[in-house]
Amino acid sequence: PEPRSLNFIEEIMEADGSSGKHQGRICTRFPPEPNGYLHIGHAKSICINFGLAAKYGGRTNLRFDDTNPVKEDIEYVDSIRDDVRWLGFDWAGEHYASDYFPFLYDYAEYLIGRGMAYVCDLNEEEIKEYRGNFFKAGRNSPYRDRSPEENLDLFRRMRAGEFPDGARTLRAKIDMQSPNMNMRDPLMYRIKRAHHHRTGDAWLIYPMYDFAHGVSDAIERITHSICTLEFEDHRPLYDWFLQQDVDGKFFSRPHPRQIEFARLNLTYTVMSKRRLLELVKEGIVKGWDDPRMPTISGLRRRGYTAASVRAFAEKVGVAKRDMVADVGLLEHCVREDLAGSAPRAMAVLRPLKVVIENMAEGEVHWLDVPNHPENEALGRRKVPFTREVYVEREDFQIEAPKKWFRLAPGAEVRLKNACLLRCTGVVQDAAGEVTELRCTWDPASLGGDAPDGRKVKGTLHWVSAAHALACEVRLYDRLFTAKDPMDVPEGEDWRHFLNPESMEVLPAARVEPSLAAARPGEAFQFERLGYFVADPDGGKGTPVFNRTVSLKDSWAK
Ligand code: ATP
Ligand code: MG
Ligand code: MG
Repeated sequence: PEPRSLNFIEEIMEADGSSGKHQGRICTRFPPEPNGYLHIGHAKSICINFGLAAKYGGRTNLRFDDTNPVKEDIEYVDSIRDDVRWLGFDWAGEHYASDYFPFLYDYAEYLIGRGMAYVCDLNEEEIKEYRGNFFKAGRNSPYRDRSPEENLDLFRRMRAGEFPDGARTLRAKIDMQSPNMNMRDPLMYRIKRAHHHRTGDAWLIYPMYDFAHGVSDAIERITHSICTLEFEDHRPLYDWFLQQDVDGKFFSRPHPRQIEFARLNLTYTVMSKRRLLELVKEGIVKGWDDPRMPTISGLRRRGYTAASVRAFAEKVGVAKRDMVADVGLLEHCVREDLAGSAPRAMAVLRPLKVVIENMAEGEVHWLDVPNHPENEALGRRKVPFTREVYVEREDFQIEAPKKWFRLAPGAEVRLKNACLLRCTGVVQDAAGEVTELRCTWDPASLGGDAPDGRKVKGTLHWVSAAHALACEVRLYDRLFTAKDPMDVPEGEDWRHFLNPESMEVLPAARVEPSLAAARPGEAFQFERLGYFVADPDGGKGTPVFNRTVSLKDSWAK
């Protein structure tokens, strides 16, 4: 890889390293909320957190940010663990913010005791109204000056279940005039009778993200808490919560430092978990791991390799300003990874039968073919060549234009790895549809060129009709037709740019017999067609293939 200059997070880490700020320790964390499957944006965050810790000899925790019981589920926890591991990373500690509920509660009581938090009886709407907005200073809650004793009593009764949901909240006592809205007495706890996937019904009050996050980081002694840009103006609050531990009873020092980087977006797709969940729930895609999804599990099923996703994350870099990466770059990365490693094979997506009239029935030529033009380590295989073969329907035209180097009446082409073949006749049905080609082969060209040296420009892929395996092949296109699918015309729904033709199923493709043994996840380059991967829907001996990407790379380096 080309050397590159340090990104701004590396600069911070190196400066902290040389100043001895954390005694040379580096600890990062990846903190997903288990409310959906991870997507390529999360992959970016995973690569940053794990990558930087690895680079500087540190460690990375996986922390489930499970403070909101309503949308979270164990299914998501499991998928997240799988996806991080698949990407090639191993976490030092596995933690759950919910494990810190008792700690958070104790710290909240401490803040109450110091007069830095209070129980507020305003309802949601009133809180909003009192908070003001960017142009309008907030007003103090009428409950702001309750004594620590009264607050403590009320907070304990909140926990004990004496009040209905939403009746009271615990708020940090900061500054209702602050220009930063996050500092206007933010909520720390709300009452919510909801079953939590880990703590069950033990808690009736749940901490808010801003309170729980920094405290969790500090408990784990995270040194660099890397998050996305939208948390930039939450940073003063992040720091405030930790700084209230004035005598260091709760957290060791130095406190973690929050660092923000730009969220990754990708063209032709959406990335918010909420939207992705809607696509799944509405059956627009077949599940979180549908190969059209920008989820890690979708990319994996599509045939993306972990190395290609990591390479993509590296190439997009770490920015301070939001960016939209071109999906073409992602495709480029997987082509680059598979080019040298995926064995070649032949498949015909839309078969057209060819009868080679000057070959005997029952005649079989077992061609000895390399699995890769350069990578000899991939070995060789036997490919049967017989009197009847299938070629790609679109490789034949009755009335061929100029510069048509494929099959046409009278035209000669090369069959890949086999011989030269000339089209001598066309069979059509009553509707004029071509149903079969009659051809002759040049036996002298078997395995290469004709001895007379005549030139043939086109080379076609093909399979032996008698030996080929019929199977399903799925081709994919972008999920949305617009680069920015959220940029919908006025009054239109966000689904406006959904691509109705994002998946094409070819039920009667034919592949060479060696592919019967393909295991789900195995990748191939089908000659002239692209990179394909065997899908888990296929059974033993009856594979199903997904096209990962076509061969054409439009990405300009
Ligand atoms: P979403 O909006 O898709 O639900 P989120 O930020 O709410 O995403 P989390 O589960 O909280 O999802 O994310 C875990 C970590 O991944 C966070 O640190 C978050 O900043 C990071 N992350 C999420 N989306 C992206 C993205 N598009 N690019 C980079 N990092 C991201
Ligand atoms: Mg989040
Ligand atoms: Mg979210």
